[in-house]
Amino acid sequence: MPPVSPSVVIVDSTTNPSLTEQILAPVPGNPLASLRRVDHLWRSLREQTRPIPAVVQSHALPLETVEWDVVICGGTLGILVGATLAQQGWRVALLERGTLRGREQEWNISRRELQTFVTLGLLTEAELAQAIATTYNPARISFLGGTEVWVKDVLNIGVDPVYLLATLKQKFLAAGGELFEHTPFQSLMGHPNGVQVQAGDRPFTARLAIDAMGHFSPIVQQARQGRSPDAVCLVVGSCAQGFPANSTGDLIATFTPIQHQCQYFWEAFPARDGRTTYLFTYVDAHPDRPSLETLFNEYLRLLPTYQGVELAQLQFQRALFGVFPAYRQSPLRLEWDRILPVGDSSGGQSPLSFGGFGAMVRHLQRLTSGIQDALQADLLDRRALAALQPYQPNLSVTWLFQQTMSVGIDQQTTPNQINDLLAGIFQDMAGLGDPVLKPFLQDVVQFPALFQTLAQTAIRHPRLVLQVIPQVGVLSLTEWLGHYLNLARYAALYPIAQRFLRSTQAFPPQMQYYFRRWLDALAYGSGQDYEHEG
Ligand SMILES: Cc1cc2nc3c(=O)[nH]c(=O)nc-3n(C[C@H](O)[C@H](O)[C@H](O)COP(=O)(O)OP(=O)(O)OC[C@H]3O[C@@H](n4cnc5c(N)ncnc54)[C@H](O)[C@@H]3O)c2cc1C
Repeated sequence: MPPVSPSVVIVDSTTNPSLTEQILAPVPGNPLASLRRVDHLWRSLREQTRPIPAVVQSHALPLETVEWDVVICGGTLGILVGATLAQQGWRVALLERGTLRGREQEWNISRRELQTFVTLGLLTEAELAQAIATTYNPARISFLGGTEVWVKDVLNIGVDPVYLLATLKQKFLAAGGELFEHTPFQSLMGHPNGVQVQAGDRPFTARLAIDAMGHFSPIVQQARQGRSPDAVCLVVGSCAQGFPANSTGDLIATFTPIQHQCQYFWEAFPARDGRTTYLFTYVDAHPDRPSLETLFNEYLRLLPTYQGVELAQLQFQRALFGVFPAYRQSPLRLEWDRILPVGDSSGGQSPLSFGGFGAMVRHLQRLTSGIQDALQADLLDRRALAALQPYQPNLSVTWLFQQTMSVGIDQQTTPNQINDLLAGIFQDMAGLGDPVLKPFLQDVVQFPALFQTLAQTAIRHPRLVLQVIPQVGVLSLTEWLGHYLNLARYAALYPIAQRFLRSTQAFPPQMQYYFRRWLDALAYGSGQDYEHEG
């Protein structure tokens, strides 16, 4: 096939009103207005017109009194950390700008990850069963021109966020946590012995502030100083009724070549009140990238081909969309003491994923026991807190994968380059079996699995590998090689370090703290936190 000529103008064939306007107009909750609000934010990211907030400042004098151990700003995933810390006996205040309530749309996750809630004492087995709104099997991986791969038990559970957050809220309050709804964070003053957060119309003093205000947290924006994200995942979709078939899902699927300098990926799965379908694409923040509304038009244009259904047959329950910025400089290192970002604000998830709930649940035990250690040892300076969000080579290697799944705004590619590469790699992974395929699909990259996959692909599809080099560039490849070698190092070091742990009990608390964090970084950074269930 001839190379795709770089052109990013998506000719929106829809007339006035657009397909998006027509479809979203009758959907309750005015999703079109919300879509346009998020689009405004996306435009400001592309045009770099977002103002840089100055919400964090420092003060040399200590606070006279410190009321809480921890103040958490942002309730959605903040409540997961808040409920755990409150149950451990810490004095916790949770500030939420609105009402603490989960969204209607389920969060998809794998069953094994959910056990954390029971292990941490946050949910009983019965409550966990009630939190699970949907389960389906199997799920497909399919790329244009390739062979389909089917897997079971991967991201096939839909958790009900409304029930989950309401239950955790009860647990939090019962354990003595204090919830302040309609109390938006405004500013934070760091003192030598604590922080003073100004929120709503009152100050909150605490030893530690946790920023759980999401990707666009004002603290994160100040820390990032207006830097443009290195990559963005754009997601649009819906939950609708009326599909002819709704028992299986797609984890990732394509059926078109590269169009408008974007490879469109699709995802679909049964939901409690219909079928969820997403179109997502990996781009940079170039000003010429499409708006979310344009992408929504593309989604509606292609949905009938994807699912074999006419739009007129569907009853749309809700529209879904999001902009997920990712920075190579992740997890975010803050230059201030006593502030810890968690959840989306931390930038601690894979640039390939928009599964921030899953990422948080996977790290919840590590994170909350680390915060507990930090509070106990009073290690709340920036260095000690940075050890709680460590460098993880298995996440950093995924940057290259992200690059192979996206196209630069002026890049020349063959139309099926991404499809061919992914079809080849996933076919090889499937050949290597579930222990290789399943962790990868859940954002857990392990050295042995990656090594085997790369070796297989290099032998079986050398042409595809060679095509990647000009696509990603030598600089990115060199950088990637560093992370790959670190991944090997972490994988080898973890079992040795684990044996050494038994002899550290006599160490002073500070040394123990750093040793445990190092051990966690080795385990999670090499994907050894994941135990394959067979
Ligand atoms: C379309 C879509 C589909 C998704 N699907 C999945 C999925 O299937 N599985 C999965 O694991 N993840 C999924 N995610 C991702 C998941 O929803 C997020 O990772 C998760 O919501 C992140 O939570 P957070 O608390 O870190 O940030 P946010 O969700 O952004 O929440 C931030 C919280 O902070 C509050 N807040 C913000 N500013 C302030 C302020 N100034 N003062 C006080 N409070 C404030 C907000 O009200 C909110 O409660 C999806 C996301 C989208 C958009």
